[in-house]
Amino acid sequence: MSAFRPRKGDIMNSTLVVVGASYAGVQLAASARELGFDGRIVLLGDEPDAPYQRPPLSKGFLTGSFAEQRLPLRSQAFFDEEKIEWMPSTRATHIDRERREIELHDGSRIAYHHVALTTGARVRKLDCPGATLSAVHYLRDLRDARRLAQTTRTARRAVVIGGGYIGLEAAASLRQQGLEVTVVETEPRLLARVASPWLSGFMLRAHTEHGVAFEFGRKVVALHDADGTVSVELDDGVRLVCELVVVGIGVVPNTELAADCGLNVAGGVVVDACARTSDPSIVAAGDCASFVPHWAPPGARAGRIESVQNANDMAKTAAATVVGRSEPYRALPWFWSDQYDLKLQMAGVNAGFTDYAMRGSVEDKRFSLFYFRDDKLIAVDSINRPQDHMFARKLLSNGARVSAEAVRDPAFDLKALASGDAHAPRGVAQ
Ligand code: ADP
Repeated sequence: MSAFRPRKGDIMNSTLVVVGASYAGVQLAASARELGFDGRIVLLGDEPDAPYQRPPLSKGFLTGSFAEQRLPLRSQAFFDEEKIEWMPSTRATHIDRERREIELHDGSRIAYHHVALTTGARVRKLDCPGATLSAVHYLRDLRDARRLAQTTRTARRAVVIGGGYIGLEAAASLRQQGLEVTVVETEPRLLARVASPWLSGFMLRAHTEHGVAFEFGRKVVALHDADGTVSVELDDGVRLVCELVVVGIGVVPNTELAADCGLNVAGGVVVDACARTSDPSIVAAGDCASFVPHWAPPGARAGRIESVQNANDMAKTAAATVVGRSEPYRALPWFWSDQYDLKLQMAGVNAGFTDYAMRGSVEDKRFSLFYFRDDKLIAVDSINRPQDHMFARKLLSNGARVSAEAVRDPAFDLKALASGDAHAPRGVAQ
């Protein structure tokens, strides 16, 4: 985005309060400055640590390959230079929309002109007897990860509850440290919410090869404290004994602040395509925001997207709205995960795909799956094929036309198509 100078008296001397200091909040504050917001920017975070990267927490941070010093998203020098007033351990408790003031946990108030809600999401808690035993861990913030990293040093057996990305990344990290791991998943397959059955099957094989055991279609009914160990009781009577339980059963959005001040909330803070809430002076972005994405099929319901990409890109949209240059959010969704020696990269959303084509070698664990809906390429999953992922992002962003048949052709040149080369191979309509 190009630099923007506001008109005097327009946004100068105004105050933007950003509530939530993770990816979306930090990006929103930075983008607002970049777009010429000259007023005061206050960034409130309820955690004591400087805003940090979250993806390593379930991966390298747990295995010890990613040091804590590398976690911060931005340096203090950055906040100082950009005059972003980052306030750690500070919780916004109420938004007084009439007086345009935000109340903080200590009773103090900040007057605002604009508010950005980037409050994110919190873990969904296990709800069964024994769920609060000290051997039960979650993985959302740095404090969780520090506590878990400490425990893995002495534990021998772990039960991971939930076979989504968090659960699987935790399972891989724990396995890599030599723990025996069993994953309990209520659905009949892994990653059921987000991945195609094909990818679920591949990930199941990969984890099984690494020695992870699985219990599918099972619910945890109780956790029992058993003399230094925990016995995880499943609904078929099986009891899994371990020293450590990691729960990764999804998140719930932090919408209380929005709901409490009367904003429209429905499974998330409801925003329009420009990240505006039902109050024009309040925007929302990231995990907490619910909207109908541009790529959704007609008639699709609003929903939230939980990814770093969405937090960053939506924050840019929200910042543009704050400075009066709103443009609809149109970024391509993408996502990644690292498990063992597998680098998974997903571009687009494969929901409702009707056909797919594969390139590469499953045996070598280097392949990409191209998903089509009604002959339109909608998503590409790449395993250890980072180049495919980059080209796929271009293709999907440009809406380039390609058929499943063309992708299956060994002579297919993805790079040429992604760069708009006129000599694209047979079967490819430009
Ligand atoms: P996360 O970001 O925590 O990985 P997801 O929603 O992607 O969240 O994945 C959570 C997984 O946990 C899903 O596959 C879901 O089916 C599974 N799950 C939800 N509740 C339970 C439960 N009580 N026991 C086991 N698995 C669960």
